[in-house]
Amino acid sequence: MSANLKVNSGSEVALTLAQVALDVPIANWFDYRLSPEWAARIRPGSWVEVPWGSGRRIGLVIGLADESTLEARRLREVIRSLDEAPILPDHWLALIKFASAYYHRGYGEIGLPPIPKMFRTPAGPRARQSAFARMRAAKKPARGTAPPPDSDRAGEPLSTTGPNPTAALDTVLSPAQQAAVDALLEAPGFSVQVLHGVTGSGKTEVYLHWFAEILARNPQAQVLLMAPEIALTPQLASLVRRRFQSEQVVVLHSAMPEAERARGWLAAADGRARVVIGTRLSVLTPMPGLAAIVVDEEHDASYRQHDGVHYSARDLAIAAAQHAGIPVLLGSATPSIETWRAVRRGRYRLLSMPQRMGSAQLPSVETVDLRRDRSGRPGTLSAPVLAALESTLATGDQALVFINRRGYAPVMQCEACGWVSRCDHCSAWRVLHRQSPEPDGQAESKSSRYRLQCHHCGQATTPPRACPECGSIGLVGLGRGTQRIEEELAERFPGHAIGRLDRDVAQRRGAAQAVIDSFHQGKVQLLIGTQMLAKGHDFRRLSLVVVAEGDAGLFSADFRAPERLFATLMQVAGRAGRGAQSSRVLIQTRYPEHPLFAHLAQHDYVGFADRMLEERRDAAMPPFSHQALLRADAQTLEPALAWLAQARESGVALCGTDTDPQLFDPVPMPMQRLKGRERAQLLIEARSRARLHAFLDRWLPVLRSARPRMNWQIEIDPAEV
Ligand code: ADP
Ligand code: ZN
Ligand code: ZN
Repeated sequence: MSANLKVNSGSEVALTLAQVALDVPIANWFDYRLSPEWAARIRPGSWVEVPWGSGRRIGLVIGLADESTLEARRLREVIRSLDEAPILPDHWLALIKFASAYYHRGYGEIGLPPIPKMFRTPAGPRARQSAFARMRAAKKPARGTAPPPDSDRAGEPLSTTGPNPTAALDTVLSPAQQAAVDALLEAPGFSVQVLHGVTGSGKTEVYLHWFAEILARNPQAQVLLMAPEIALTPQLASLVRRRFQSEQVVVLHSAMPEAERARGWLAAADGRARVVIGTRLSVLTPMPGLAAIVVDEEHDASYRQHDGVHYSARDLAIAAAQHAGIPVLLGSATPSIETWRAVRRGRYRLLSMPQRMGSAQLPSVETVDLRRDRSGRPGTLSAPVLAALESTLATGDQALVFINRRGYAPVMQCEACGWVSRCDHCSAWRVLHRQSPEPDGQAESKSSRYRLQCHHCGQATTPPRACPECGSIGLVGLGRGTQRIEEELAERFPGHAIGRLDRDVAQRRGAAQAVIDSFHQGKVQLLIGTQMLAKGHDFRRLSLVVVAEGDAGLFSADFRAPERLFATLMQVAGRAGRGAQSSRVLIQTRYPEHPLFAHLAQHDYVGFADRMLEERRDAAMPPFSHQALLRADAQTLEPALAWLAQARESGVALCGTDTDPQLFDPVPMPMQRLKGRERAQLLIEARSRARLHAFLDRWLPVLRSARPRMNWQIEIDPAEV
């Protein structure tokens, strides 16, 4: 894909060709002839309808030219210009071009999918009104698509005029918060700030005050607030709506009804929406007045897109800020190691909030040595933990038990022959789940049934009555998931209200919020849950947090596993003691002497992050090297490996005597089998980013031009290797 385009928007003579990006994986753009009528109206950022094969498509004009590599007679003509569409801002076009070069995909493949479908579907001849006009006029979501109760209130009209929103900012900032806001307001043009604030330090207020000032100073300004998960957007949205004119706040994520998302997207692209709150896809929203970006929980793995183009929305947010010439703020209690390196090198500016708000204190963090507990099977709660739970409950305080595994038991096993419940389609075990009506989250009745379910492909079966291998009826659930811990604690602490929150519970609409509400209200005293509990929640009466399995990931082959474990444990621990009470965090582990726990006990992110940086520097791991993964999958492993081996040969041939980048041998992926496909990967590692991309720019076209009959993708900066 060549990128030597000639953008010539300032020229006085209208150019005769439009370079049009379309959502097809062949080229960055396609040349179309412009009639004089359209040539006078079109510029980069315009939308056009063009012929494509025997049909029509809507595409984005990314440049104008007067010469094409195509023969003149093969050039087709733009059908019409979509004058009613928002003109896409230059900084957005620049971002798309950057992302395209960086992730080695076409402009259209990056830029078009985030645009709501109705805007990029050619209207039939009978459509009286364009989708744009319809969405601008809409006062309410289209019939039949009532927004879910916890989603944003995009049903209200967005006013195009009216005064600046004046924020009702009732909170008085703490000195640390004020210092952070002042520093942000001084930030000149493009700059990256990192707000490293401990859990409960009040990062959200900093975001809101900064935004308020920006929006007040410039009536055209728009701001973008990114959150890692859909589940976190309602609470952010309601906070933001209390501060800014509600109708100028929109939420964008992939789980909302199409019409609602389209209205919000258009309000953002028109410049009418002043505050956009969104998950990872929101980073690609064109916002003409974009003046500031916040990436909350910037370290979170959910910022990675895994379907289609694999991108990091955090990294794209930084690129977006760079192209718009504006400041971006990365907020976290545990910034990613990549971010921390940039802080250490002085490229990002560090803003610290080392203390919690008001009188709240950080919890005391202790490990519980599971080796002392003879009964210890995975996930078992040890005697000291049970004692701590008992005394917490007795005093009327709240407790939380965290285990990052839903279901009853992670695997079913035959005690006679060792058979285990493997998934036929994946390299994984089928997890034993207790199935029950659970009408109101109450403890289940005796009629509960079980099922075996794979968490990767979703395949579920009824558990066999007898072992499929040896016929023995001695089948047991091995280990513990949330359901089993809930069951055991309910038996142990009768008379205390117990709740559970995991993805199974959250499947029922409104159920997750109901559990969280009843915990806030104190109706539930003991809460058991997964990752879903770890983030964002501001519980005020929680004084004991138990981490059932603190070891997970300590000795993983993935070099990022300790970083992820540390961040998760910090997050979970951060739920405790946010009120005035003193609080404890107990982490069960078999390796209490591991240095990670010492840093955790000291709330010492900086020490931990510096240690990680040293380890990675010694091992020449990212961010001290730069990686890409070439992945292939097939019905069986051999052809995937064979194709990668061939690809490697062609890459090695391109490199000649050059040893940077290094191409490793193809290997099966850590999770080799997924949904019936066998998967393999080849790691490419370079000492500099520039070298990596220069190599990929030469190599990927070679791979593409061979038109392999193989499913393959390239992933840049892979999160898991
Ligand atoms: P973080 O995101 O850093 O973990 P939060 O933004 O959740 O922290 O803030 C922690 C708590 O402190 C919240 O209950 C919030 O409402 C409160 N808070 C934040 N700033 C102030 C302030 N300036 N005055 C009073 N309370 C505040
Ligand atoms: Zn058996
Ligand atoms: Zn499976």
